[in-house]
Amino acid sequence: MDDKKILQIFKDAGVLMEGHFLLTSGLHSPVYWEKFKVLQYPEYTSQLCGLIAEHYKQEHIKVVAGPTLGGVILAFETARQLKVRCAFAEKDGTKRVFRRGLFIERGQRVLVVDDILTTGGSVIEVINAVRASSGNIVGIGILVDRSDQTIDLGFPLFSCLKSVTQTYSPADCPLCSKGVPLIRLGG
Ligand SMILES: [Zn+2]
Repeated sequence: MDDKKILQIFKDAGVLMEGHFLLTSGLHSPVYWEKFKVLQYPEYTSQLCGLIAEHYKQEHIKVVAGPTLGGVILAFETARQLKVRCAFAEKDGTKRVFRRGLFIERGQRVLVVDDILTTGGSVIEVINAVRASSGNIVGIGILVDRSDQTIDLGFPLFSCLKSVTQTYSPADCPLCSKGVPLIRLGG
């Protein structure tokens, strides 16, 4: 699948919204990625996770791990295609842990997955949870890499799509000066 087709999946799923949005960072942006919308279509999610699975299929992955909430679906589907186990890391204060009997064995080869990479926060929390179990992280698989600079997570990174979005500080936002209504998103 080329980038155009992958981008079309996100558009068809309604993930990519256009307008004038207030991001949680406080910055304004002409687009917003409603990332969960793609997860409501098993066919799309399956195709995207398939790209991640394909990329890492020679790596002898034993467990695919992702963060709650969206990462549960991604870890499940990627693991299903790789025919391995999946695990998800839940929030526990400022970190993430494997609970409910889910575990990573010492030295086990782990693929970490997540939906959107911006600052790397949730991915880093999963990496730390895997490390706490002495798992062996082989790589990271992301649906959309939106980081504006290359974040070095310390492991190979594969993303289905790379898309850097223009953001503006409120003071010099061209949408504000045009008087376009600002949309505040929950969460
Ligand atoms: Zn603005």
